[in-house]
Amino acid sequence: MTQLLKGAPVAAALREKTEKQVQDLKEAGVIPTLAILRVGERPDDISYENGACRRAEAAGVAALTFTLSQNAPQQELADTIMMVNEDPRIHGVLLLRPLPKYMDEERLVNLLSPRKDVDGITDGSLTGVFTGKRTGFAPCTAQACMEILDYYGISCGGKKAVVTGRSLVVGRPLAMLLLHRNATVTLCHSRTQDLAGQMREGDIVIAAAGQRQMFGREYLNEGQTVLDVGIHFDDEGRMCGDVVMEEAMDRVAALTPVPGGVGAVTTAVLISHVAEAARRSLDR
Ligand code: NDP
Repeated sequence: MTQLLKGAPVAAALREKTEKQVQDLKEAGVIPTLAILRVGERPDDISYENGACRRAEAAGVAALTFTLSQNAPQQELADTIMMVNEDPRIHGVLLLRPLPKYMDEERLVNLLSPRKDVDGITDGSLTGVFTGKRTGFAPCTAQACMEILDYYGISCGGKKAVVTGRSLVVGRPLAMLLLHRNATVTLCHSRTQDLAGQMREGDIVIAAAGQRQMFGREYLNEGQTVLDVGIHFDDEGRMCGDVVMEEAMDRVAALTPVPGGVGAVTTAVLISHVAEAARRSLDR
């Protein structure tokens, strides 16, 4: 029978660890603090911001919000980023994206100090992921996948990991994190030949192509651990992933459900990164 790798217990364990770290920091006189930067009033951004604030406060992490108007000049956001970079009371920064089209997102993102980049979006953070040095933080979704593997005791060493999707937010950094754990990694994308054959070869399979229910039976094999990163809605409005869950359930060894899998761990990772950023600030 397929084991469901639910995200909730992973997030709970991570929260417990974070709360302990926050407690220790508070005893050392440091209140871990997250700054959330938002431009405009997009409902998705507001809802993510509210969720992040709630989760932060529940873990004892302070959350400060900085909201710029929809038509704010690019320089105003640049100034805000520089201000939070320099404020020693702020340890982590979440910059809600996408930024409005008239802004140069790449330039603005890279103004952010990698040390405070708890969402893993700067080139500095990604460099750290690729070199294995702790320059910044891994993107939260990629890290959430690693947390799930660790929590359920699924080792990577010597295993064949197949990652489908090569974005800088998920696939590419996750391939590196798996490689650092000594998996043999195949990174697939839209030009990969015989994708089904590649995926069937994996001991650990990461479905992160962003294609609604693309991966059915023919892509999956017995004994596999499958992490479904996709977030979509079916025609009835129910949330679903990249994997056809019903077809995976009678085939693979373990699977993250959608909803309630990888997505349930991502915000817990973000908050844990803020606590870790605060801890690292003490080292300096
Ligand atoms: P992107 O669209 O940026 O990247 C998709 C990747 O998948 C690309 O590398 C693309 O290849 C590849 N791809 C697309 N179609 C195919 C195909 N038919 N066959 C093989 N590869 C394909 O998506 P993201 O990485 O940002 O997100 C991926 C999914 O994860 C989305 O469903 C998103 O909603 C979800 N997500 C979930 C999060 C969570 O917390 N659970 C957080 C972030 C994202 P190529 O490079 O060749 O174009």
